[in-house]
Amino acid sequence: MRGIVRAAAYVPIGSDGSRRLAGPDEDAFTLAATALERLLNDGRAGPYARLLVAGDFSSADEANLARFLGGTVPIERSGTGAEGTARAVASALDPGKGDGAVALVATDLFRAVDPEAVSDPATPSDGAVALAVGPGGVRPADLRLEAGRGLAASATKALATVLAEAPWAGSVARVGDWAIDPKQGPPARVHPEGATSPSLPVSQGAYVPWATYLADIPSRWRFAAERCPTCGATTIPMRGRCRGCGSTGPLQLVHLPRDGGEVVASTVIGPGGQPTEFDDQVSETGPYGVVMVELAPGARVTLQVTDSRAERWPVGSRAGSRLRRLYRMEGEWRYGRKAVPLR
Ligand SMILES: [Zn+2]
Repeated sequence: MRGIVRAAAYVPIGSDGSRRLAGPDEDAFTLAATALERLLNDGRAGPYARLLVAGDFSSADEANLARFLGGTVPIERSGTGAEGTARAVASALDPGKGDGAVALVATDLFRAVDPEAVSDPATPSDGAVALAVGPGGVRPADLRLEAGRGLAASATKALATVLAEAPWAGSVARVGDWAIDPKQGPPARVHPEGATSPSLPVSQGAYVPWATYLADIPSRWRFAAERCPTCGATTIPMRGRCRGCGSTGPLQLVHLPRDGGEVVASTVIGPGGQPTEFDDQVSETGPYGVVMVELAPGARVTLQVTDSRAERWPVGSRAGSRLRRLYRMEGEWRYGRKAVPLR
């Protein structure tokens, strides 16, 4: 019989003094992906038979979650708020739906639901909570997820409150931002959804065709790489060909660590220096940092910096990474990992 075995929380870094608010490059998908990544360790689908989602996910968010998990996990939407979350938890624990392990993620992004809500200090924090439900976990006898006063729209708050207060919750392994004070943090830099101008008709520099973007998702989102058994070199992004010796295989699929890579070069891109894809970003939030990070010997990626001021990072320092919005192209947001300070 399935029960709750693990819970992960993600809370954005920015605060307005009363709650945490998602940054300008975060959305429902990136919040959910970050919580799931913490839940699943390597961010792949693993043995999970279903993904249950509660929150205000668009169909594009849902498609991206499927891509994030490798495209093999059926996704079930359970609605929004505490009620949607309660339905998702009930479905996850339902023994009539088989014994397979299930992942569940609840996400709140209030500016997406109602931009006016951001100006109301009673609005709960943005964030995401993910649960793994599998064999041998805790089966709460009395699981009540109540919206409560002022929390009607909050999916994460309902789950987080239960996991903080229920007597059975002590035996659930918890990872992530459970101890974070929603009031503390650097000033949030939020721009309202829809404030970004339409995608540019002319694209230069960073343009990547859609088919190439999709093919590179395992490497760009999960740091999937190929290791060569002949010469030992690691190739990222994957190209089916070793960068070291040119061997075409068989190459071994590996996932490089997402946190802890070494900064080998660092710069700041000021206004005018950015590829046109980042014009909107620069006009809204100013210069940004870029770092080259070595994830494994010889395997380097170039990442934009986020959750941090635009300044050079010391060579030799360590970088974390998160999945974030890059830019809008051909009507859809493109996503990739960005470097964040290790917390
Ligand atoms: Zn090789």
